[in-house]
Amino acid sequence: MSLTNAQYNQIMRVYDERRMENNRNLENRRKKAYMNLPELKALEDLVRSESLKTLHLMKEGRKEKLTELKASIEKIGERKREILLRNGFPEDYLEPGYTCPDCKDTGFINGKKCHCFIEMQMKYLYQQSNIDKIVEKQNFDYFDINRYDNKVPILADGRTNRDYMAANLAFLKQWIRDFDKKGGSLMFTGSTGTGKTFLINCIAKALMDSFHSVIYLTSTDLFESFSKAMKKDDEEQQEIQEAILNCDLLVIDDLGTELNNSYTTSKLFYVLNQRMVFHKSVIISTNLSLNMIRDTYTERISSRIISDYCIIPLYGNDQRLY
Ligand SMILES: [Zn+2]
Repeated sequence: MSLTNAQYNQIMRVYDERRMENNRNLENRRKKAYMNLPELKALEDLVRSESLKTLHLMKEGRKEKLTELKASIEKIGERKREILLRNGFPEDYLEPGYTCPDCKDTGFINGKKCHCFIEMQMKYLYQQSNIDKIVEKQNFDYFDINRYDNKVPILADGRTNRDYMAANLAFLKQWIRDFDKKGGSLMFTGSTGTGKTFLINCIAKALMDSFHSVIYLTSTDLFESFSKAMKKDDEEQQEIQEAILNCDLLVIDDLGTELNNSYTTSKLFYVLNQRMVFHKSVIISTNLSLNMIRDTYTERISSRIISDYCIIPLYGNDQRLY
């Protein structure tokens, strides 16, 4: 897993800010309490001087003084709470406050990510994916097999579209379960309206929910982002480039709809190749057939896809109703 360094640092900054904010709030509460209740200040001063005294005595070897100090601090604490309560303050008014008491706003509990860290990480993964809103409605919960035709067999397959899609669905769910172990890449082919994008969004959401980073780009977005990144000093674009190469799953939707030239072809080969070398998964959707991919891009690209991708053709009836 799967956050970029920049994202990780951003999350850690959130924790820094939370701790600073909570410290400021505590400081303000202290000032207010001391102003209204000077005896509190006197008690805190007492704790400080008792602690110093004990420290000196312990240096002289009188270790038993520590236990006495603890007891006396506890007693003073009780008196402070009484004073607060008596004057209409909550008894924990002078305790440090935490946004997440479980990890005390450090993000970690015994070296493991706290639930608050995981939530934040999830938010980043969704935002970064470019489909954080869409997958609310386009996920496996909304996949209705009954929308697929159950009467006419598909010519190329022999099964009806419903049986065919049921088999695809089972395959894809297994593919997702095996994602960390096996990975691999997919290509959905088929004309507009066969439900390619919907299916991709289902997969993307399922993977994001298991803390994988997903980047979703139409092929036009992908190539635009490469041209933008050529201008140096664009830090955001550099980060996007890094994510395109390193995310757990890269989705290239609608390959073939971009304005295509030798530049896009070489970039496409670069991305597919890099990701293959580092065993990173890609899902491509396209209206193009493999022959058209060869003609539009190069033989190198089409043969790479044929050898490395599981190709899943999708058939009408029109699935745009989703
Ligand atoms: Zn936490």
